[in-house]
Amino acid sequence: MNITDVLILGSGPAGYTAAIYAARAGRSTKIIAGPQPGGQLMITSVIENYPGFSDPISGPVLMDQIRRQTEKMGAEIISDAIKSVDFGKCPFICVGESGVSYISRTVIIATGANAMWLDIPGEKEYQRAGVSACAVCDGFFFRDKNVAVIGGGNTAAEEALYLTNFAKSVLLIHRRGQLRAEQILQKRLLENSKIEIIWHTEVTDILGDGSRVTTLLLTNTKDHTKMKKSVDGVFVAIGHRPATEIFRNQLALDDNGYIVTNKTNFTTSIPGIFAAGDVCNSLYRQAIVSAGQGCVAAIAADKFLSV
Ligand code: NDP
Repeated sequence: MNITDVLILGSGPAGYTAAIYAARAGRSTKIIAGPQPGGQLMITSVIENYPGFSDPISGPVLMDQIRRQTEKMGAEIISDAIKSVDFGKCPFICVGESGVSYISRTVIIATGANAMWLDIPGEKEYQRAGVSACAVCDGFFFRDKNVAVIGGGNTAAEEALYLTNFAKSVLLIHRRGQLRAEQILQKRLLENSKIEIIWHTEVTDILGDGSRVTTLLLTNTKDHTKMKKSVDGVFVAIGHRPATEIFRNQLALDDNGYIVTNKTNFTTSIPGIFAAGDVCNSLYRQAIVSAGQGCVAAIAADKFLSV
């Protein structure tokens, strides 16, 4: 039986950083890259706040650097996605979609979080036909078009600002009268002449002509009046859901599905299983935070193995 010291699930900043530390500590280390190798930064255009880069760096370039560093340290990166786990006893077993069983003395879960959807009529039907959850991926297709962004957090603000690089106009539709986004982003939104904010409003339907999005049906959350807005595209930016479905009956999760961890050493409810990054962190979803947590989890896993 080939038993690894440290098995890492997920290849975003948390997973790769955990692998760098585990491999550098001399532990046999495997990373299962998961369904989106490189994680969310692979669909992020510009990163200005990751220390070490005085000029903005693109997400894919940053992740490529971190992946190379990880490989140089001796960690093995495997293209597979885990479909089930058995954390009943150590060594732990994780089964990949490939059919391979990965067996390890410790596991660090860094599977991240996925975009949430509104679950309204038209949303699924027009995905890739005007409905998107990623301005960086799809904004280019809306040059000189009218688009809407739904949400009031940092993601929505960043998506709206990014879309002004292409679109003729950007509606930011928010269900309340106050944004969650950071002040600096709010200032940029208000100063941008291409952006109009529609407050106290929910999108109830996404309509189209059968092949593309054409119209949003909106309802005012205060007086319940309805209106229509013509748009060519709509970007849903209402938050993320942690990728924890396969751990549901094995680990303690919070009410929103995030893995419950001890924030000192990122242990989970099972000794030997650790979690790091967005999968256990709904508040500070930053690459640098995830990387830091991956580091801590790997050091803690090394200590666990030393006992
Ligand atoms: P948030 O949870 O911060 O914001 C989600 C937004 O979507 C909220 O404004 C919320 O409204 C709205 N919303 C949620 N559900 C619905 C719904 N069903 N219908 C309509 N609106 C809805 O998520 P984000 O993805 O924006 O950010 C998550 C975390 O990541 C935050 O901690 C953020 O700071 C961080 N982040 C940081 C960035 C940076 O620093 N550069 C970039 C992107 C994210 P309401 O306000 O009413 O609850």
